[in-house]
Amino acid sequence: MDVTPAGTSAEPQLLPEPKRLGVLSRLAPEPMKVVLNWGRRYSLWVFNFGLACCAIEFIAASMARHDFIRLGVIPFAPGPRQADLMIVSGTVTDKMAPAVKRLYEQMPEPKYVISFGACSNCGGPYWDSYSVTKGVDQIIPVDVYVPGCPPRPEALLQGILKLQEKIARESLADRYAEGPSVAQLTSGLVTPPPPPTAGGAGA
Ligand code: SF4
Repeated sequence: MDVTPAGTSAEPQLLPEPKRLGVLSRLAPEPMKVVLNWGRRYSLWVFNFGLACCAIEFIAASMARHDFIRLGVIPFAPGPRQADLMIVSGTVTDKMAPAVKRLYEQMPEPKYVISFGACSNCGGPYWDSYSVTKGVDQIIPVDVYVPGCPPRPEALLQGILKLQEKIARESLADRYAEGPSVAQLTSGLVTPPPPPTAGGAGA
């Protein structure tokens, strides 16, 4: 019967972001955090959000010649719920933007985003198109930008190394204390479908 008080004076009972990340991430001594960051850094299950030509370069980077598995990037996560890293490669259109945001929201924390190529960085050659989003960072936070049209696979490898350097020195508590709030990430573009009406199965 101990239900969350619904009084007006009480603060909302949502835990702040750092507390939702697990005790180890917050309270572990510094050497343990180094080990946690090390593990996170070299086991990045990647979710490729391939939207146009840049996706081909991403695929090339995952193949035997460039072989990003040797850097600890694991292709391909079965879906966003199993992924640590989303790589957006290609042109984000306004019509596709809600899907990008929704799938990002489905990824578990901590999660990272690489924007791969000019289109996802800023709209690229289509920056003035009526239908193109001027950078994926308008809808989700981006950790690393890889420039180029298209970037070569080596550029993606460099971007992955930059991300790993960032992960190695990050504090998750700081990251989420300063990062966008849940309200910011869930605002705007994506509106959930209305719940089914009770008992309203028939016509
Ligand atoms: S940046 Fe260039 S290569 Fe990449 S998706 Fe856009 S137009 Fe294609």
